[in-house]
Amino acid sequence: MSSASGGQTGCENVGENIHIVRQKMTSACLAAGRAPDSVRLLAVSKTFSAAAIRAAYASGQDAFGESYLQEAVEKLASLADLPLEWHFIGPIQSNKTRQIAESFSWVHAVDRLKIAERLAAQRPAQLPALNLCVQVNISGEASKAGVAPAQTLELARAISALPGIRLRGLMAIPEPLQGAEAQRVPFRRLRELLAELRAAGLDCDTLSMGMSDDLEAAITEGATIVRVGTAIFGRRPDVDQHTA
Ligand SMILES: *Cc1c(COP(=O)(O)O)cnc(C)c1O
Repeated sequence: MSSASGGQTGCENVGENIHIVRQKMTSACLAAGRAPDSVRLLAVSKTFSAAAIRAAYASGQDAFGESYLQEAVEKLASLADLPLEWHFIGPIQSNKTRQIAESFSWVHAVDRLKIAERLAAQRPAQLPALNLCVQVNISGEASKAGVAPAQTLELARAISALPGIRLRGLMAIPEPLQGAEAQRVPFRRLRELLAELRAAGLDCDTLSMGMSDDLEAAITEGATIVRVGTAIFGRRPDVDQHTA
């Protein structure tokens, strides 16, 4: 996976990259009148090595996002000596829920009640509740994962009643847009949806939105977790061969 010339191990500039991303987050918070500690950085380490994650941890990063279960499980095992917080951010097949429920603290991309029910039933009783976000198809793309905005409250309500999991809020991956003004539109919609959930009495506090190319627009619109991969670890190799 790596070569002597580097570029895909994701280790070389991790510390410096994290510093730059954190500065961008702070600037965006201050410009929006938000406290800098109101947004968490989730380092998306999918396809990158355990060594890259160790390098990020050495720079003060302790929350990591993974999308491919088999790859994630191997990394979790080899990094078990570090106090890391693991977030599963990929699509979830129902036959994979047990391992996710046993190994992760957060799940970001739930868009079906059946998946939430399985995670709830399979969360080990000795672990704290599994933090869960509902993924919304905020740009209305036919081929994309996520519940439709109009169905979000109903799904969130049903999930919030399940034992063993804690509904934290909403997650979205908008269609790629150029320019902060355009990028803000879908993020604003997700923020308004979260406000609807809260107005309906659901105890949610999380907007998981914003990636390497749009994290500032997401923070302007209220992101509480930004999920950043490329800007920290570099470009990913082609991942088409992976499955969740
Ligand atoms: C890969 C991935 C990211 C990170 O994207 P970058 O553009 O590399 O920052 C964020 N969220 C999800 C759900 C992802 O799969």
